[in-house]
Amino acid sequence: MLFRIMKHLHCAFCDTLTKSKIVTLTETHEGRKFALEMKAEVCPNCKEKYFDGAKLQKFEQSIKLLDA
Ligand SMILES: [Zn+2]
Repeated sequence: MLFRIMKHLHCAFCDTLTKSKIVTLTETHEGRKFALEMKAEVCPNCKEKYFDGAKLQKFEQSIKLLDA
């Protein structure tokens, strides 16, 4: 059986093992602020965040939908 497991990664900047964290993502769009809590891999050393690309795209798409 194959499972897709979210693995810890090594930071691209300092090669430190990242940790899973819930982070709040905010974006301002046409003067309105949007926030989304999502899981990300965070580097404990340089605080670089690594997001799930598909979820991030969905968030951006939902912002664009409000435009219509
Ligand atoms: Zn780092």
